[in-house]
Amino acid sequence: MSQDKRKPPHHRTGQFQNNYLEFQPRSLAEVLRWKWEAGRAGEPKPPSTPIPSVSPDLKFIHANAEAASQQPAVTWIGHATVLAQIGGLNVLTDPIFSARASPVQFIGPKRHQAPGVALADLPSIDLVLVSHNHYDHMDEGSLCALAKQPGGGPWFVVPLGLAAWFQRRGIERVIELDWWQCHEIQTALGAVEVVLLPAQHWSARGLGDRMKTLWGGFAVIAPDCHLFYAGDTAYSRDFTDIREHFAGRQTGAQGGGFDIALLPIGAYEPRWFMSTQHVNVEEALKIHQDLGAKRSLGVHWGTFELTNEPLDEPPRQLAAQREALGIAAQDFFTLGIGQTQVLTPRRAQR
Ligand code: ZN
Ligand code: ZN
Repeated sequence: MSQDKRKPPHHRTGQFQNNYLEFQPRSLAEVLRWKWEAGRAGEPKPPSTPIPSVSPDLKFIHANAEAASQQPAVTWIGHATVLAQIGGLNVLTDPIFSARASPVQFIGPKRHQAPGVALADLPSIDLVLVSHNHYDHMDEGSLCALAKQPGGGPWFVVPLGLAAWFQRRGIERVIELDWWQCHEIQTALGAVEVVLLPAQHWSARGLGDRMKTLWGGFAVIAPDCHLFYAGDTAYSRDFTDIREHFAGRQTGAQGGGFDIALLPIGAYEPRWFMSTQHVNVEEALKIHQDLGAKRSLGVHWGTFELTNEPLDEPPRQLAAQREALGIAAQDFFTLGIGQTQVLTPRRAQR
């Protein structure tokens, strides 16, 4: 694969690549080995504890949707879907409300827990961040439903190469970004910046489109909250780069590092297969530290059985490894599905 000299290193001819570790597609033999070994070991084992879920505080969520009185808050809807109420906006990450993470709804990984907030119960969404085109992150039914919300659809911010997919479905409010590119939104609270950031991952939706559209994570830099969302990622130096990129705006006097990082903590076993595409809990904790995030919320678990670990294992791993590192429970936490965490507004920390 040749690299175009005029373009950044992650741009290749007709494809994209990671910054630090070239994505090597897993062979069919490796996929079969993974599935065969999992089948022989009876993995994933069923969860031994229920996935925590709570009735959403819809009264709070809807009152908080109004910019004038908004407190920064995050609500875990399930998997990597989070409603972030920051900067006077209602932002959704990788919305999936469907029964399966699949191109078709009769086969593929099925949903184990209902969405923590039903689509119909959401406040009016301003902004949807789509990290990449895997089915558990870019769900056609959910995205098309959001585009038809009463009063007009949200803006969809997507990595390079994905706008055409939205436009083919009649969705015109779509903004495509390259890594490090920024889209600015004016709100009642001031300017909010949305920046697409690198991640160690890959893309494909079908046969023959591998690496043809970009993947990534996001920063949302709002006056009251700096939010980071990793998307799907393995561990890499990208997170140190991201900290350095924002360092000039996240000094102690300016309120410090990211107020909240949404980091994946599930879909990590077996490591020989997953380690170049998904972090395990130990690596998610390293990302939390590399970013200099004040607090992190563990997502991408408890909803779809995608890999070999039990659905309920990630928070147990998190509790054990957090303690070993001396990280306080409130600094890297999980929520029940449907649960809201209110955050300290950034201005109050100055
Ligand atoms: Zn993915
Ligand atoms: Zn995923």
